[in-house]
Formats: sequence, C-alpha cells, structure tokens
Amino acid sequence: MSNIVAIVGRPNVGKSTFFNRLVEKKQAIMDNESGVTRDRQYGEAEWNGKRFTVIDTGGYVTGSEDIFESEIRKQVKEALNEASVILFMVDCHAGLTGLDKDFAKIVREISKPVFVVANKADTAEKSYTMGEFYALGFDEVYPISSASGSGTGEILDEVVKILEPDHEDPYEGVPRIAILGRPNAGKSSFLNALVGRERTIVTDIAGTTRDSINTHYKLYGKDFILTDTAGLRKKTKVKDDIEFYSTIRAIQSLQDSDVCIIMIDAERGFEAQDMQIISLAHKYKKGIMIMVNKWDLIEKDAKTHDKFKKEIEERLGPLSYIPIIFTSVLQKQRIFQAIELAMKICESRHDKVTTSALNEVMLKEIENYPPPALKGKHIKIKYVTQLPTYTPCFAFFCNLPQYIKPPYERYLENRLRANFDFEGVPIKLVFRKK
Ligand code: GDP
Ligand code: GDP
Repeated sequence: MSNIVAIVGRPNVGKSTFFNRLVEKKQAIMDNESGVTRDRQYGEAEWNGKRFTVIDTGGYVTGSEDIFESEIRKQVKEALNEASVILFMVDCHAGLTGLDKDFAKIVREISKPVFVVANKADTAEKSYTMGEFYALGFDEVYPISSASGSGTGEILDEVVKILEPDHEDPYEGVPRIAILGRPNAGKSSFLNALVGRERTIVTDIAGTTRDSINTHYKLYGKDFILTDTAGLRKKTKVKDDIEFYSTIRAIQSLQDSDVCIIMIDAERGFEAQDMQIISLAHKYKKGIMIMVNKWDLIEKDAKTHDKFKKEIEERLGPLSYIPIIFTSVLQKQRIFQAIELAMKICESRHDKVTTSALNEVMLKEIENYPPPALKGKHIKIKYVTQLPTYTPCFAFFCNLPQYIKPPYERYLENRLRANFDFEGVPIKLVFRKK
C-alpha cells in the first residue's frame, strides 16, 4: 500500500496524458458506471506485477504567475513527501524553461528517487532537446511520448525496480474499516472511545504509511482493523478546506478497506466533499455507511432525525442504499451499533443469493413491470444469476441486452435491494444475451 508514484512538473508538459495512460484500463472500467464523479488525481496502476498508486499533481498547479505561492507549492510538496518515487516531467518541444528549474529545486529538496521524464519525444528530431535536461542535475533523462506510449515501458521497468514488493498481508481476511471524514468530525474521538470502552486493542500494525494508522481490534466479540487518517491534519496543520494531503491518505485507506465509514459533523451537515468521497467509495465497490456524529449538539424535536436523514438521502440520489446512523461519540451513543453496522455491511458484501431464490423473486418483479419495448421490439429477461465476483454482481440474461436503459436498470436494482439485504453495499447489474 505504500508504493506511490507522483508525477510533477510545470503545466502542459503532459502529466495528465501520462497519468491517463498509466491508469487507463481501470479508469475505463469505472467510467462505465453512471452517477459517479470522476476522480482524476489518483489512480491505481500495475506494471510487471507490481501495484502502485499514481498521483497527478497537475490539478494543483495553475498556470498563473504565483504558481509557487504558499498553498499550491505546499500541496505539491506534500504530495512529494508521500511519494516513494517522483517522475519529474519536462517537455522536449519546449526545451528547458525557468519553471522547470524552479520545480527541480523543489524536487531536489526531497531526497527521493527522481526520474526526469522528457515527454513529447514523439520523433527522434524532437528528442534532440533532451540533452538540455541533464542540466537539471539528475542522473538520467528518459525520453517518452505519452501520446503514443513510446518509451513508457522502459521508464516503468526502472520505476518498479525500486518499489517495494507487494507484501503478504498477515491480517488477510480480517475486515478493514476506514474512518473517513472532514477534519473535526470526530474520527479520533471515535477511535479513542472504542479503546476506552474495552481495553482489547491489539496492535498498531507496522509497515503502513506514516499518517494513517491501522489498528487491529477485538471488540464486542468482533475482529476488525480500523484505519484512521485523523492524525495527519494535526501534524501538518493543513487548512480545513485544503485537504489534498489528507485526501491522498484517505484515498489509500479507502482503497484498502472493505467498508468506509463516512463521518459527518451534524452541525456542519452533509457537504460536497463528503459526497465526493462517497462517490469514490461507490466507484471502488466498497461497503459504505454514513455516521452523523455530534448528534448531541443538535436541538431536536420529533421530526429532526427524519428530516436530517431525508436531506442526506436526497443528496445521495441513486446511492441512497447507503445507511445513515446518528451518533454521539462524546456521549458514547450508538458507537457499538456503528461498528455492528459496519461489520454487517462487510458480510453482505460477500453474500451470494442462490439462482433459484433470485429467479423466483425477480422474474415476478419483471413480470409486474416489464422492460419497455424499444423500436417496436419486446425485451424479454429470461433469468437472473449472481456472478461469482468478489463483490455482488447480477447478470440478467435477455434477448436484447443493449435495449435495457438506465431507468429500468435502476428499477431492477431497487427491486433487488427491496428483496435482498444489500444495505450499504454497491451492487452491479450486467445484461447478457441469451
Ligand atoms: P499537464 O498540464 O502537464 O497535465 O499536461 P497535459 O497532459 O494536459 O498535456 C498538455 C498538452 O500536451 C496536451 O495538448 C497534450 O495533448 C499534449 N501532449 C501530452 N503528451 C504529449 C506527447 O507525448 N506528444 C505530444 N506531441 N503532445 C503531447
Ligand atoms: P477528527 O479531526 O475527525 O479526528 O475529530 P476529533 O476526534 O479530533 O474531534 C474534534 C472535536 O469534536 C473535539 O473537540 C471532540 O471532543 C469533539 N467531538 C467529537 N465527537 C463529538 C460528539 O459526538 N459530540 C460533541 N459534542 N463533540 C464531539
């Protein structure tokens, strides 16, 4: 989990193009799913059997003159701090520029392996300028063309050589719960409350990246690992709304988790950033639940709870399969239920519904509300089965799979959810020809 490759360099050298090339396949699969925002900054890549996270720092560097001012500069540096390997990208077309030199200074301050990547070396002619880049003072310059892909294999061969091997996980099979949320939502307090209640905390697991702490718990008769990303803000004093640094951590613990608890401060309410992290968890098919914390601070009448819940559900839209629990970590209200819910989601994420049960229920639902005919053609769904995938995926076999439209797909998903308990679990539907 600790292999991070950061791509840095001035604007327009081709960072995003290269990034997209590295993470292309997975990104493409994810984009098939509707209702999900795209996240371009992070991606998972694999080369020669080694997996790593790629960060494109491009989004944080604007073309403006104050490029090296405070926050932006800080954020790029934080990304570099997290990286195991830095790809410093320059542009053969443009040759060496003053901004490249500025970047070189920043990169050099951090003693990490650096590869200078001379992009847009599309032709031999263009790669002539490559020599200039040795002036930046790094050992090697690798000519590549992100556009055509030439040279990318060579550099990746070198990069993965210095990445850590994917190590065996001694905690394999133990459910992993990631606690995510904006600063001050109460994440640390939650962990402390759990520990305080029963002193059965087992170990802080070593070998994980610096600022997210994995703790193995045996609590309430359950065995699980909690990942907390809270500590880091306190250390770096990242401002409330600029959480780039913590987001890298958050994304990693999200990717490593089985279930994500998205913690919200009841006083602040549900915010855009919360939705972003939820969309990402959905995209990665993680179990998801929302924990509205500090419920003790809200003045309540008989309707408050339902109203609050409804508001969040409206924001969730098609993701309203995500359960919402109201807690007060301070008063230790529903902390146990929160963990129980997370564990339940973990389990249903691997539930398999038998084909007979599925058909018995779903064929009736389909009969009640058949897919609307399209271009005069009738669509007939013949049977349904759950595929043997890691997370739930249901295949509907029909005569004209391409004619099933998103609204009908949503209907089917809703009926599946109404009949089988997949609370908090993203499910996927596919349509196959039969
Ligand atoms: P970023 O700002 O560093 O992320 O740069 P982009 O990835 O957005 O690329 C900037 C421009 O360079 C775009 O117009 C790309 O199409 C172009 N570009 C990227 N890679 C190559 C390449 O290998 N060859 C050529 N000729 N153009 C490229
Ligand atoms: P983190 O940044 O998400 O780890 O948040 P902390 O755990 O540090 O909590 C931020 C502040 O909120 C602290 O002052 C906590 O005491 C307070 N806090 C946490 N949970 C609750 C809660 O349920 N109710 C109230 N009233 N305060 C809380």
